[in-house]
Amino acid sequence: MTLTIGPLRAEPGQKTRGSLPADLGTTTVDVPLILVNGSRPGPKIVITGGVHGGEFIPVDATTRLAGLLEPDEVAGRLVICPVANPPAVYGGRLNISPLDGVNINRVFPGDKDGGPTDRMAAWLFEHLIDGADAYVDLHSGGIDQLLLDFVGYRLTGDAELDAKNKAMAHAVGYERVIFGTSADGGNSHAAANRQGIPAILVETGQLGDRDPATVRRLIDALYRILHHLGVIEAPQHVAPVTVQPRDWM
Ligand SMILES: [Zn+2]
Repeated sequence: MTLTIGPLRAEPGQKTRGSLPADLGTTTVDVPLILVNGSRPGPKIVITGGVHGGEFIPVDATTRLAGLLEPDEVAGRLVICPVANPPAVYGGRLNISPLDGVNINRVFPGDKDGGPTDRMAAWLFEHLIDGADAYVDLHSGGIDQLLLDFVGYRLTGDAELDAKNKAMAHAVGYERVIFGTSADGGNSHAAANRQGIPAILVETGQLGDRDPATVRRLIDALYRILHHLGVIEAPQHVAPVTVQPRDWM
């Protein structure tokens, strides 16, 4: 099946790179995208980095993953967006957009008639996330943020969706798995859940870290998630999981 986002297309067996304009009302930004359409059929998976500015690990890991994955190794359709919130990332602002002071991860799924950040969130849902079989949103600790790696997911009241969220969260390979007891709020993964899409939040690294070892840790986690979802065979080079995931409320 062809993978199409706006004018970007990837036929089965193709990898396509490009960017698409997102009209935010007061300005237009270019959103970089890599589409990896596997040579075999499978699920549609969306991965975002750069939802917040100053979180470098997800931008680096998604860019590297996009380079590493070859369509011949992939079953399904992958949409990789290394910089999901260009104003915040290129403006170097932590947590909020320099355009309107809004934290995009409090307003998902956004409002296409709202302010710039609401429009950015709505654009991501309309063009990338709607219709996905799973969604993974990547964050890291900004320069002022002490953080231990963790995975977040929500309990939604839908047993089948909750089981998918939890299984995906446990597949990451991080010890700390934190769940919220409802799908309320403007977090990307909660908003995706409200549309029936299994989704998790993955936090990796802290203090504005750009350490290649931290990036590698996140790439390993992404390989495990993609393997769990049936998109790739278990790659030989992924480090084995040495910790048991534990759920915390
Ligand atoms: Zn963040």
